[in-house]
Amino acid sequence: MIYLDYQATTPLAPEARDAMLPWLAGPEAQGFANPHSPHRPGRAAAAAVEAAREQVASLLPPGGTVVFTGCATEALNLAVRGSGVRRVAVSAIEHSAVLDTAKACVDRCDVIPVSPQGLVDADAAIAPGTGLVAVMQVNNEIGTIQPVDALAAAARDAGALFLCDAVQGAGKLAPPAQADMIALSAHKLHGPKGIGCLWIRDGVELRPLIYGGGQEQDLRSGTLSPALCAGFGAAAQLARERMQDDADHIAMLAGKARDILSRWTLNGSPVERWCGNLNLRLHGLDVARLMSELRDIAFSAGSACASGSGRTSHVLRALGLGDRQAKCSIRLGFGRYTMLREIEDACARIDAAAAAQGV
Ligand code: PLP
Repeated sequence: MIYLDYQATTPLAPEARDAMLPWLAGPEAQGFANPHSPHRPGRAAAAAVEAAREQVASLLPPGGTVVFTGCATEALNLAVRGSGVRRVAVSAIEHSAVLDTAKACVDRCDVIPVSPQGLVDADAAIAPGTGLVAVMQVNNEIGTIQPVDALAAAARDAGALFLCDAVQGAGKLAPPAQADMIALSAHKLHGPKGIGCLWIRDGVELRPLIYGGGQEQDLRSGTLSPALCAGFGAAAQLARERMQDDADHIAMLAGKARDILSRWTLNGSPVERWCGNLNLRLHGLDVARLMSELRDIAFSAGSACASGSGRTSHVLRALGLGDRQAKCSIRLGFGRYTMLREIEDACARIDAAAAAQGV
């Protein structure tokens, strides 16, 4: 199996797995202790959680707090709903964790359009009375990188908070330094599934969504998993240490993929993009048939969240693509553990299978 779906999730780094194992050990090792208990094994578990918090914080700007959550979706819900604002502005290409939360939970949700290149206009007007602006750092479907620093400054000038979904950018790019809140997900940066976090700038007030034991500074009650925290922390540290090497490797893979698939059209800006995401279309392509003919290549027909729903991707529609263009698009996502020969093999076979369809 050649795995080309790095935007849906990433393989667990061996270093992250190793960091988790002591906290999954049996009764004798006492790594199972509750990190909120005051006894010695509990304090050891709490120390591991705090060390992990520092490691995750190293991917984020200074001057804020990392609150662990169950996933980025929860972190984004905490930011939007916990801020208590009644009017928000979100980009048209946000993940549904932001779009649907905003639409369901606030009185008014203004949608900021994007250009045909998939970029949010940094000068987009923010309506008076807007309490929160949310724009993602890197889009999960097409990989475009948004001008989040300029957008955060504009939000601040308009008196609004700025929330950045940095799920697809964290560990790859510098953090969105001007944001007030930033959401991350461990499993998108070679950490375990089941943990994410919300970074909250000092001074930003939120109310919790989950009440109970008052963990995570009263913002997210519930017993933390030291194993998941440790895995997230190790993955974050590794991503920071390997940022340049990973970027170089992925750029080399992207260059090769673009060479082989040179007749395909790239969806989204060719410049302002994370190159480990290639969203490509070929006029007339039957994507379902392509996927069924290439079952040993794991790639996507759009975002993993939208695929299977039968709906055309809201991101591709926001670029101005019609239904037919959107439906002949595929997403190839690759990263740290993808090998050159896998890219060569997969891209050549994808192109040949498309040619066999007569497109
Ligand atoms: N935001 C973006 C950009 C994503 O790609 C995803 C996952 O697909 C999420 C949010 C949700 O992350 P999680 O799986 O941690 O809830």
